[in-house]
Amino acid sequence: MNKDEFLEELKKINVKLTKLQLEQLDKYYNLLLEWNKKINLTRITEEKEVYLKHFYDSITLIKAINLNQNLNICDIGTGAGFPGIVLKIVFSNLNITLVDALNKRIEFLKLVINELKLKNIEAIHDRAENFIRNNRNKYDLITCRAVSKLNIISELCIPGLKINGYFIPMKANIDDEIKNIEFLDKLNSKLERIISFKLPIENSIRNLVVIKKIKDINIMYPRSYDKIIKKPLK
Ligand code: SAH
Repeated sequence: MNKDEFLEELKKINVKLTKLQLEQLDKYYNLLLEWNKKINLTRITEEKEVYLKHFYDSITLIKAINLNQNLNICDIGTGAGFPGIVLKIVFSNLNITLVDALNKRIEFLKLVINELKLKNIEAIHDRAENFIRNNRNKYDLITCRAVSKLNIISELCIPGLKINGYFIPMKANIDDEIKNIEFLDKLNSKLERIISFKLPIENSIRNLVVIKKIKDINIMYPRSYDKIIKKPLK
């Protein structure tokens, strides 16, 4: 999608960008390209594709929750900053914590935060299971895009939510993963709805899985990564 198409599609979901926000996205794109030559950040590099599959796609979280309010958000496995950096640029009121296990990506994100002069955002090098164990009941919203299967990421992320907070993973295909969601009971959470739509232009499927944490969770979760993988919640 070219920039006109980007703005046009955003209008349809009630998102308007200022000149500053557009400049910040542009700068982010250039930094992404430059650093992608040195470290592996993304396989998508063509400008039109980045605006569609990274920038627009990240903003679609607005279809699930009002992001024009003061929310404490955590983006787990943010990689090169998707959706977290884009959300911070577009919804500047948000307070965002980005977490990734790969330090090179976190170093890149710190540089982006600095260059774009973003406030109320931090990038943390840690594994999700460790980070969340040390940050229980803290976030209004936790999201993640393209990190792992629903049962795995639910265990990693939901303990970090406040009660009544939302976990909203952004996923492509989910048919297999939502056949059996009993594991959410163990995490005292419930599936509220799934918002499915197609990305404009290329028409691939996207899903926002809206999960609400109802009660506090047994302190044993999240388990160590070994255990999560060996004995995934069912
Ligand atoms: N969310 C980004 C990146 C997806 S790739 C996007 O949609 O483009 C998955 C990312 O999750 C990688 O950067 C990887 O380092 C990170 N990751 C995977 N498992 C993790 C874990 N247990 N803790 C923290 N980060 C993890």
